Amino acid sequence: MPDESSQRNMTKLQPHAHAHGDHAHDMHDGETCRHAQDHRAHGAEALARAERLCKERGLRLTPIRRQALEALHADHRPVGAYDLADRISPAGGRRLAPISIYRALDFLVEQGFVHRLSSKNAYIACLHGHGADDVVAFLICEACGGVDEDSSSAMKKAVAAVTEIRQFSPSHQMVEIVGLCEHCRNAAS
Ligand SMILES: [Zn+2]
Ligand SMILES: [Zn+2]
Ligand SMILES: [Zn+2]
Repeated sequence: MPDESSQRNMTKLQPHAHAHGDHAHDMHDGETCRHAQDHRAHGAEALARAERLCKERGLRLTPIRRQALEALHADHRPVGAYDLADRISPAGGRRLAPISIYRALDFLVEQGFVHRLSSKNAYIACLHGHGADDVVAFLICEACGGVDEDSSSAMKKAVAAVTEIRQFSPSHQMVEIVGLCEHCRNAAS
């Protein structure tokens, strides 16, 4: 059993993260992964909400913005910008320019349809229609790659207490927590 400090180092360096993730993905994708089920069950609803909000805000969900959002909803794991560009480029056609994909992602993030996870340098479609000033905690599973969101009022109060004491005015309120989801934790034990 490794001690706590070496576990922490392992998490930081993530030497096995990739291989382990692939393995877990094989046995855990599709039927059993609740994250995948959540995206299948609520993706269409979230897309419709994004469309409606764009109309209400007088913004255009251009084809590339829509394709990027659809591609992110098709995966329950965070997707990097280049990977996303590959997924939405026409088969056999020209690959989308990085600037185009980043512009589309910036728009989607600004509107709250997509979140950027700093710890992964990747993007995940949001299934919740939460407010722009909500504090969101992301529970990122290292095994299956699934991400859960929590935006409880307790979280909001705790972060507000910290920022008020420091007289800090936040522009972006996200907490990223990395570990094992309930399913993978049970599968591992
Ligand atoms: Zn999962
Ligand atoms: Zn969200
Ligand atoms: Zn998991």
